[in-house]
Formats: sequence, structure tokens, C-alpha cells
Amino acid sequence: MPTLFIDGQWIRAAAGGTREIRCPADQSFVAIVDEAGAIDTVAAIDAARRAFDTGDWPATPFTARAALLHRVADQIEASSVEISRAESLDTGKRLVESEYDVVDVARCFRYFAGLSASGGRVVDTGNPGAISRVVQEPVGVCGLITPWNYPLLQASWKVAPALAAGNTFVLKPSELTPSTSIILMRILQECGLPAGVGNLVLGAGATAGAPLAEHPNIDLVSFTGGLVTGRRVMAAAAATVKKVALELGGKNPNIVFADADRAAALDNALTAVFLHSGQVCSAGARLIIEESIRDEFVDDLVRRANRIVLGGPFDPLAQAGTLISRAHRDKVDAYVEAGIAEGAVLRCGGRAPDDLGLDAGWFYRPTVLDRCHSSMGCVQDESFGPVLTVETFRGEDEAVAIANDTIYGLAGAIWTSDASRAQRVAGRLRLGTVWINDYHPYLPQAEWGGFKQSGVGRELGPTGLGEYVELKHIYQNVNPAPSGWFATDETGGD
Ligand code: NDP
Repeated sequence: MPTLFIDGQWIRAAAGGTREIRCPADQSFVAIVDEAGAIDTVAAIDAARRAFDTGDWPATPFTARAALLHRVADQIEASSVEISRAESLDTGKRLVESEYDVVDVARCFRYFAGLSASGGRVVDTGNPGAISRVVQEPVGVCGLITPWNYPLLQASWKVAPALAAGNTFVLKPSELTPSTSIILMRILQECGLPAGVGNLVLGAGATAGAPLAEHPNIDLVSFTGGLVTGRRVMAAAAATVKKVALELGGKNPNIVFADADRAAALDNALTAVFLHSGQVCSAGARLIIEESIRDEFVDDLVRRANRIVLGGPFDPLAQAGTLISRAHRDKVDAYVEAGIAEGAVLRCGGRAPDDLGLDAGWFYRPTVLDRCHSSMGCVQDESFGPVLTVETFRGEDEAVAIANDTIYGLAGAIWTSDASRAQRVAGRLRLGTVWINDYHPYLPQAEWGGFKQSGVGRELGPTGLGEYVELKHIYQNVNPAPSGWFATDETGGD
């Protein structure tokens, strides 16, 4: 079956290209999908442009758009088994994690369906003969580019608000993980999305993705991915002054004070960094711990990290899965090597597992690099793998200074039993999300995004919808009359 979805039709790539998808946990065959080139992406952009400029969708009442999004959420829930399985096969993540993701995807569609579109506001002109309104309108054609770590979840954070606001879009998922985006487009079609409103292209970023940042007929590009690619997308978008939303990486601090609930802090420090083998933009990859408790805490953490069981997506005993690709595992390994060369002390991991059953996958042991400080590359650079660096502090001021000492500002946590200190420190951290005595929860109702080089704009929450909205001021003089600014024939001149 063809896997590009353009102008309401499932089609093959114009040049006939295809790509084989294999599960990173064992290299088993998953699917063959069509591989778009720039020509296919431009065809998708043209379809989305036509649907926006001449179709009904942008003017469809919000209630009807919301009803469609609810139907999509229903279908996602009804297809949960199929979607979770497809997500796990593409990414290698444990099935239970994919099942959680699907719940969150449906919740995201429902949230944006229910987020009432205000009709704008009336502005007081101070003139009884004039009416002034600020109205909300869709931005236009949106280019949506998503990564491989949470393929369908990241797509839903963009597709749901784009549709809720009345836009049309072209979605380009990571070339490594296309399956659940294909299912999403099938569901949108079944739920009655008009032709051309939603389009899907699959393929490599540099060919199928680049036109979404460059093409003059795209009004907004929303990108989630790495910092280097994000800079490239922003630079390309500047040529046509597109609106840009970027969700980039993080090097996220997890700060543990000596007065924290030790068992909770320890357990969550593991989840913070090793969930999904560290392939999480908000992973708590920097443990910043008060010096007085470091030895015992880090010893316990290393003991627990050593016991984490790795395995494939359908292994009921597995606690963490594989990395996405050999290239990514090589990158993580090189990062660990560089950290050791800089003076970090390897406490555990730092290698692929020995287990024979895992040798066909791209697994990497949970790794702890001790005795780090913020001038080291391994503390500053994102590994996007299961690697924790450990730094120590004495006192609140030093904890804040160390935590803020990176180019990133996505998320982080504070562990303390002192509620006043928790609030003080939260206020001083330059991060888009701060957790206190917890790690990782997020809500579709609350904005998500980064300070500094972690991104531009926000996803989720009312601001997440706002990214997909343009504001227009409409001023009407209900009693038109000459302004008298320039002389008339009667009042001057010859
Ligand atoms: P990349 O930046 O490599 O890719 C992200 C997406 O961009 C992919 O679809 C990719 O396509 C595409 N792409 C690549 N080059 C271009 C280009 N020139 N023009 C347009 N699109 C392009 O990131 P990864 O997929 O490797 O994801 C991991 C990174 O994403 C991590 O660094 C992580 O921090 C970040 N991330 C951030 C999140 C956040 O919320 N802040 C969430 C998730 C991840 P293809 O892969 O097919 O080449």
C-alpha cells in the first residue's frame, strides 16, 4: 500500500524511492515505506496551500473542527493495540511505554478539541462611531517536522492544535519511525478530514524535510529535534520570514538537597535519566547533589543502575530498551569516551551489554559518570542516551549557578523537604519546566518548551494553540466623514 498521503490520496513517491524499516531491538523487518523527495514535499505543500486558500476548513466552525478531533481521539483509543505495537517496532521502546504514549496522544487531541477558540476581543476605541475587534485566524499552511523518540506523541502536539485552529499541514516524521504517522493520517481520513488539509511525506530530513522550512508557501514551521538541525531550520525559515516554533534539546539538572526524601529522590533519579534509555528531551541527565550526601547516594544509584534489565519491546522482564540506531549508539559511546578522557570517573555502564540475546540490537548499559563539573563537555553536551553525569554543590546559590550553567533551558527538578527553598530555587532556574519532588510528569493543559537554546515558543496549553493562530485587528468607522487633514477645494489652494 502506498504510504505518502497527499491531497487526500495515498500515493507512491514520484521517483519511486522506498525505505525498509527495521526494529532497532533485533533488526527484524517492520515495513517498506515510500521515500519522498523534495518534489513530493512540494506537491504536498501545494495541496495544503489549495486547501487553505480555497477550501472550507479554515472557516469551518470551531465546534465542527472540535467534533472531528474528538472522533480522532476515539479512533486512536480504539486502535491502541495496533498503534502501540507499531510504535514499539519502529522505536524499539517497551510496549508498556508505547501504551502510555497512546493514552497521551488521545488526551492531546481531546484537550485541543475542548480548548474553546475565543472569538477574539472587542477593543474600546473611545469613539462611539467606531468599532474595533481583534480576531483570531489560522496561520495558514504549517510544516510539521518530528523526531524518532516519541513519534506519534510529538506529531499529536503539532497536528491537534494546527487543526483546532483551522490550519492545513504537511507532516514529516523522522525517516526512522514513520509507521504511527501513517496510522494517524489513515485515522484523520476515516474521520472525515477534507482532502489536502492534512498531508504526510516520509523521507530524509535534508530532502523531504528541508522544503518545509524553505518553501514560500509554508507560513509556519514547527520543528522538534536536535539543536543543530533546529538552527538550520530557523535559518532556512528566515529567508521567507516564516513563523517558527522550535522544541530542541536539553541538558536537564536534577538537583538533590541533603534534606530530600532520599528513597524517592534516588528512585526518581534513575527514572529521570534512564527512562526510554535517555532518549527523552527532558531527561534528567545531570545529577547535581549536595556534597554531604553524595557518596552514599551515588553508590546506591550505581548499584540500582547496574540491576536495570535491558530487553526488546515485547520482553515482559525488560525495564529499558534499545537505542534507536547503530549511529546513535556510536555517538553515545564516543560521548562517554570523551567524558572519561576529560576526567570523569566511569562508575557503571559505558558499553553495550554482554547478553547474547541482545547482540542484534543497539542496546547500551545505563552509565554513570562521576566527579564531573560544568566546564566538561560531557556535562554541557546532550548525549540523548542512558548517561548520567554527577556534580556536587554546597548551598543553594551554588546549586542554582551550576544548574543554570548550560546553553539549554528545557526542564529540571529540585528534591528537598523545605517548601520555601523549593519555591526560591524554582524561581531562579532558567528552565521551561521545573518539577519539585518529582520528575517527568507533564500535562496537555500546561505549556511545554525551553528557555535559552532549548527552543522558541511553546507546545501544549493555550499558548500551544496560540502558536497556530494569527491575530487581526479590524477597525470599522460606522459613521464615515472626511478627515479634514488636508485642505479641500473649498478651504484652500487654487
Ligand atoms: P534531528 O534534529 O536529527 O531530526 C528531527 C527531525 O528533523 C527529523 O524528522 C529529521 O528527519 C528532520 N530533519 C533533519 N534535517 C532536516 C533539515 N535540514 N530540514 C528539515 N528537517 C530536517 O533530531 P532526531 O530525530 O535525531 O531527534 C533527537 C533530538 O531531538 C535530540 O537532540 C532531542 O533533544 C531532540 N528532541 C527534543 C524534544 C523537545 O521537546 N524539546 C523532543 C524530542 C526530541 P530525518 O530524521 O528523517 O533525517
